[in-house]
This record gives sequence, C-alpha cells and structure tokens, in this order.
Amino acid sequence: MKGKLFETAVGLERAVLVGADLYSYRKGKSLEYLEELAFLAETAGAVTIKIFTQKLDKPHTKTYLGQGKLAEVAEYVKENEIDVAIFDDELSPSQTRNLEEELKCKIIDRSMLILDIFASNARTAQAKTQVELARNQYLLPRLTRMWEHLDRQKGGIGQRGAGEKEIETDRRAIRQTISLLKDKLKDIDNQNQTRRKNRDGLKKVAFVGYTNVGKSTIMNLITKAGVLAENKLFATLDSTARKVVFPNPDPSLQPVSFILSDTVGFIRKLPHQLVESFKSTLDEVVDADLLLHVVDVSHQGFEEQMDVVKSTLHEIGADQKPCIIVFNKIDKYNPNPTAEDIFEDTTIYNLDLLKQSWMANENTPVVFVSALNKTNIDELKLKIIEGLA
Ligand code: GDP
Ligand code: MG
Repeated sequence: MKGKLFETAVGLERAVLVGADLYSYRKGKSLEYLEELAFLAETAGAVTIKIFTQKLDKPHTKTYLGQGKLAEVAEYVKENEIDVAIFDDELSPSQTRNLEEELKCKIIDRSMLILDIFASNARTAQAKTQVELARNQYLLPRLTRMWEHLDRQKGGIGQRGAGEKEIETDRRAIRQTISLLKDKLKDIDNQNQTRRKNRDGLKKVAFVGYTNVGKSTIMNLITKAGVLAENKLFATLDSTARKVVFPNPDPSLQPVSFILSDTVGFIRKLPHQLVESFKSTLDEVVDADLLLHVVDVSHQGFEEQMDVVKSTLHEIGADQKPCIIVFNKIDKYNPNPTAEDIFEDTTIYNLDLLKQSWMANENTPVVFVSALNKTNIDELKLKIIEGLA
C-alpha cells in the first residue's frame, strides 16, 4: 500500500530524520536532539514525516545505522515518497555514499543542514563570505570521494587517470576559492575592527546564548532596534549593534550609555569549518565588557544548552568575562508537566526553587525575565547598569 501520511505544501521536501540513541546518553536526550533536528529541518524548509532512532554504542563507520535498521528506513523511504534523509551527526564522505546507495534518496547530515540554513540567512558581506568559506571547506574532502565513486561505477580501467586529473583540477579550484574567501574575510575583519574602535570609549555589552532563546526579542525590548525575532533556529546570522542609553537609577548621576550587540545563536555540534570561519563574528563577544547569557528556561535541556554556550565561550577565550545570566521565558517554565494540572501553583513554586538554587550556586548575577510578557525587564536593566559600573 502506498499513500502519503501527511499532505505537505508544494515545494517542501519530505524528510525522515535519523539519529543514534547512544547508550551513553541520559534518558530522553536523543529525543531532544531529534526535536532540535526537526526544528532545524523545518527552518531549512523540509517537513519531517518520520523519525528513526537506533540504540547504539556508536554510529557504524560504514552506514551509521546497523543493517536491519537501515533496511527498515529504506523500505519506509520507498513507500512514502521521501525526498531526503537527514542524519543528526556529521557523516563521513563514505558514509554518505553508502547511505545514498542503500536509501536511494538525498542524504543530508547535520553539518550540511546547518550550513544551508546559515547560507540562506546570511545578509552582510561578512556573513556571506564566512558561510561560503565554510561550505567550500566542507566540500573539499567530499569532492574527492565523489569522483572516486564515479570511477568505481565506470569500472576503473582507463578512466582512473582522467578521473584523478579532474579531481585535481576541481580541488585546485576549490582551494583557490578558499584562499580568496579568506583574504576577503580578512579585509572585512579589518574594516569591522576600525568600525568597532570608532565607537569611542563606550562600554560594550553582548548577548550570548543558545539559538532561539530570545536574544533578539530582548534586544528589541531594550533598544527598539527592530532586530528580526522569529521562532526559527538562526533567524539571522549577522550581528547587530546599537547604542543604548539608560537613565541612571540615581537621578543625580549621568545616564548610562553603552553599545549592545546581538550575535548569532550557539548550537551543539556546529560544523567545525563553520566555527573556524565564524570566529570573527564572535569578535563582538571577545571585545565585550559584559556578557548577557540568555537562557530559555522553558526548554527541557536548558542546562545542556548553557554548557554548549560556556564551552564556546571558553574556545574563544571569553569565559572569564563578567556575565549576567538572563533566564528568559519564565512565562513558559514548566518543570513537571504532569503535576502542573493538579497543583496550579507548582510552576511558581518550582521556579522559586530554581531561582534560589541559582542565586546560591553561582557567583554570576542572575535575573529571571519574560521578554514576551515584559516581566522583570527593569530588573535586567538595573543589573546591566550594575554590571557596567
Ligand atoms: P534568538 O534566536 O535567541 O534571537 O531568539 P528570538 O528572540 O528570535 O526568539 C525566539 C522565539 O522565542 C520567538 O518566537 C520569540 O517570540 C520567542 N520568545 C522570546 N522571548 C520569549 C518569552 O519570554 N516567552 C515566550 N513564551 N517566548 C519568547
Ligand atoms: Mg536572534
């Protein structure tokens, strides 16, 4: 029997998602990961039709999944007019090739998906150049394997020489592009550095945080900058900086002014090519006098998201900077979904506990806000002023 489970809009690709549920994961973790992958897929314009996971020690080197599971996915892909299978990890070139042969549909890995989203959202010259660079770096090793694959199909003898020559030509072209893009990026970085220097003596505050936690929304609340805030991962790549002036809580003192910048969201398993080419975007963070680490406290995995942010900060040498933790979306905080229906104030009670534990445990100032309901925004402003004093 053949039939579509769901109707999809024209032009949207029908996707299955595939993830490894590693034995080392805590319970529920792989589902969270795949929900995030589905969200990424949606952002890229695909519709998730079904999710496949397999319990594994680690992904198989040849085919990611084991043979039995792979056959199951192949059957489903065939029966349900699936266009693309999206894998939650970066696949090696040979894994991709093997999977294409087995599943007979387009194979995309997490890195490619993220690069795709970044590419379609890049607006400034800097962001466009960074993504182009990362895409070429991702492509370089894969290009070779693509040709090897063609060689094998052609039967090898007599073709081999020609194939290798073409690989070399193509690789040289890509290497050339990569070095051009790197030069271009250097120029842009220099220009940006001058621009940043020209913001004469003003203190700098930068948002950091996992993607989709509400950074842009809070930026807009504080500055009315009109930054794009969307329920999408990576709604935008480009950092925005605005001058902000707060009245001083002590009216006998000068107002407090500073530069506030909104940067790209962090995400786990970011393609390493992207992290490299991306460092200059994070210059805003490296340069900042104060960081606002925004956390979506309504997300089940918010502590893990905080860890991703912290380790990225460590990588760029910004983990020792003064930082305010901004727990956002307290309106949606729901620590125990089943209990909430019975005790109406469970949410509030547990939010208080959460507040207490954070205030006791961290040397870092914390503030709990809802950007949506504009709750505690004044407290946030005060904390920023204190942080800059
Ligand atoms: P960013 O990726 O960190 O810049 O996040 P955005 O500012 O684009 O917000 C992501 C999504 O979260 C949007 O749909 C916002 O409307 C939503 N959002 C932001 N703040 C809140 C909040 O306090 N409560 C709720 N419920 N949603 C929020
Ligand atoms: Mg944003």
